[in-house]
Amino acid sequence: MNGRDLEGRLVASLPKLRGRLKAETPLKDLTWFRAGGPAEVLYSPSDEADLAYFLSEVPAAVPVTVIGLGSNLLVRDGGIEGVVIRLGRGFGEVTAEDGYRVRAGAAVPDVKVARAAAEAGIAGLSFYRGIPGCVGGALRMNGGAHGRETKEVLVEARAVDRKGNVHVLPVAALGYAYRHCGAPDDVIFTEALFQGEPGEPAKILAEMDEIAAYREEVQPIKSRTGGSTFKNPPGHKAWQLIDRAGCRGLNVGDAKVSEMHCNFLINEGNASGADLETLGETVRARVKETSGVELEWEIKRLGIPA
Ligand SMILES: Cc1cc2nc3c(=O)[nH]c(=O)nc-3n(C[C@H](O)[C@H](O)[C@H](O)COP(=O)(O)OP(=O)(O)OC[C@H]3O[C@@H](n4cnc5c(N)ncnc54)[C@H](O)[C@@H]3O)c2cc1C
Repeated sequence: MNGRDLEGRLVASLPKLRGRLKAETPLKDLTWFRAGGPAEVLYSPSDEADLAYFLSEVPAAVPVTVIGLGSNLLVRDGGIEGVVIRLGRGFGEVTAEDGYRVRAGAAVPDVKVARAAAEAGIAGLSFYRGIPGCVGGALRMNGGAHGRETKEVLVEARAVDRKGNVHVLPVAALGYAYRHCGAPDDVIFTEALFQGEPGEPAKILAEMDEIAAYREEVQPIKSRTGGSTFKNPPGHKAWQLIDRAGCRGLNVGDAKVSEMHCNFLINEGNASGADLETLGETVRARVKETSGVELEWEIKRLGIPA
C-alpha cells in the first residue's frame, strides 16, 4: 500500500476535483469500534457533481469503498486499499417537504432525520432516533428498528454508480430484504426521500425520547461497538443462540462479547480488527456446534488483514 503515490496520481489526473484527498488516513477514528488500519487514500467529495466527476475519471483498477459513520463496520488491520470515500458537508442537508416527506443527504445522521421529521409534524420516522448511522448507511443496510425499516419509509434514493452516472432509484428498484439492499455494490447513495404521515410534534418527540431511553437500558450504546454483529436467522434470535452457546462475556484480547447484549461485540481497549473478527468467528463456530445454525455477519468487514 502506498497511499502517497496513489494520491499523487489522482491529483495529477483529476484537475477539476474540488473535494479533499488524503493519503494513508487512519480509519480507527472513523469507526465505532475504534479499530483497524488506514485508508490508502481518503476522499471527501465536495458535492454530488464532484463525486460523479471523481468516479468518471478514476481508473477502473483503483478499488473504491464508501463508508458512512462507521457504526456497522469492522475494518481489518491492513487497512483498505484504493480510495475510501466519506461523504461530508455537501451531503448534509435535511428538509421537510410537502406531502409529509423528508429529503436528506446521505451524510445526514439518522437521528437528524427523525428530529427534522418530528419538528415538521411528520410521524413514522422516529425509529431512526435509535440507529447511530447516517442516511447512506441506512439505505445500504436497510436499517431498521422498533418494527420499521428503511424500505417501508423510502420513496426513492439518488445514487452515483462507479462510472459517475447519477441515478434516481425508486424503492422498488433497490431489492430490499432484511438488512440487505440489492443495489450493485459499487453504487454510492447521495440522497434519500422519505415518506411519513401526519403527526403531532410533541407526541413524536416523546416517542423518540422513549426510544433513546430504551436503547440505553438494553444496548451498550456508550461502548466501542458495531451494533448487532449477526443477522437474526429465520425463526431465531441471534443473541439467544449466542447465549446458549455460552459466549456471553467471551473475549479475544480486548475484544469481548457484551455481557449486556450478547449479539454486540465490544472493544474494551486496544482490540485489533483481527481480535474482533476472530472473536466473531469463534462465536459463529460455537453457535454452529451447539445449535446447528450458521450465523451470518450483519457487520460489514472491510479491508485486508495486517
Ligand atoms: C449501538 C449501535 C446500535 C445499532 N442499532 C441498530 C438498529 O437498531 N438497527 C439497525 O438497522 N442498525 C443498527 N446499528 C448498525 C448501524 O448503525 C446501521 O447499520 C447503520 O445503518 C449503518 O450506518 P453507517 O452510516 O454507520 O454506515 P457504515 O457502518 O459506515 O457502513 C455500513 C455499510 O453501508 C455502506 N454505506 C455507507 N454509506 C453509504 C453510501 N452513501 N452509499 C452506499 N453505501 C454506503 C458501507 O459501504 C457499508 O457497507 C447499530 C449500531 C450501533 C453501534
